[in-house]
Amino acid sequence: MIPFLDLKAPHIELRDEINAAIDRVVSSGWYVLGPEVEAFEAEYATYCEASHCVSLANGLDALHLALRAMGVGPGDEVIVPSNTYIATWLAVSQCGATPVPVEPVEATYNIDPALIEAALTPRTKVVLPVHLYGQPADMDPILAIARKHGLRVLEDGAQAHGARYKGRRLGAHGDVVAWSFYPGKNLGALGDGGAITTNDAELADRIRVLRNYGSRAKYVNEVQGFNSRLDPIQAAVLRVKLKKLDEWNARRASLAAQYLRGLADSGLVLPQVPVWASPVWHLFVVRHPQRDTLQEHLTGAGVGSLIHYPIPPHKQQAYAYVNWPLDPFPLASRMAKEVLSLPMGPHLELSKQAAVIGAIDSYV
Ligand SMILES: *Cc1c(COP(=O)(O)O)cnc(C)c1O
Repeated sequence: MIPFLDLKAPHIELRDEINAAIDRVVSSGWYVLGPEVEAFEAEYATYCEASHCVSLANGLDALHLALRAMGVGPGDEVIVPSNTYIATWLAVSQCGATPVPVEPVEATYNIDPALIEAALTPRTKVVLPVHLYGQPADMDPILAIARKHGLRVLEDGAQAHGARYKGRRLGAHGDVVAWSFYPGKNLGALGDGGAITTNDAELADRIRVLRNYGSRAKYVNEVQGFNSRLDPIQAAVLRVKLKKLDEWNARRASLAAQYLRGLADSGLVLPQVPVWASPVWHLFVVRHPQRDTLQEHLTGAGVGSLIHYPIPPHKQQAYAYVNWPLDPFPLASRMAKEVLSLPMGPHLELSKQAAVIGAIDSYV
């Protein structure tokens, strides 16, 4: 059996260091915010080539609090991809604002900058691209549109820790980048976690206040805030894993190169990487018109796979109250029917990957 992702392997590799880090927190007597959280924030900001990092309880909160800090509220609109994990949309809805979907570029699955301007209205406040599957969205045209129309840019980096756009690490191309440290992400905690990075000191400050009850000084509340703090135990674990991130991302990259070679003649639609993108292969996503039967075949051959994502946000019951026109986002809908994520992760052995390629060859 070849699992889609082995979540235990990275922690077994680092067992002693992780246990020591957890023990350090337990022994410190400091269990909310404090030095471990601050140390992680400093290290992650440096890693992301950003001036500030504010850690948070999870990725959804990172998106939500960043939008709040940008002043997004009821009546506002935020441009989002039509094909993303629903968290991107939910963060907008949590502000009382409206997600306005834009279709992706078919080759890269990332938001199509050429379609953004047509979706803008006087109510648009923010453009929210997602670096989907670990590949950066095309930021320069997005930033140019935002500048031209006076909009903020929030990036959803939940799948792209360590990726580069035109040589520079994701972390502060737009106004803010929101990160998730959900266990399965390229940088994952032993539970939930999240953060924002930014070069904007004022936005960082607002988010830092929002995450802690709207408070800067204990029992003094300047705004109605939230409780969204990264656990110090998770911060300590993330500090250990951050040191491994580049090495693990490099292993993902060699696995991706191996898939691209091994599946070149398979008839599957394979991922395409623009010259300006250095992706981190959070997922290796292929497409096939009979995706479901391909997945059944792989399951039968003992190969795990997942679908990211089977139902696009606009087709979820959660957004059924919107009066969508008939088939409003055909690309997002077709991708939901065709995409399949193959086993990918820093601890996938080459021999097992060869078996995955073999199982696909025996189908297509
Ligand atoms: C994982 C993910 C999130 C949400 O992160 P959580 O930490 O699970 O809240 C947001 N956006 C994308 C694209 C994700 O993949």
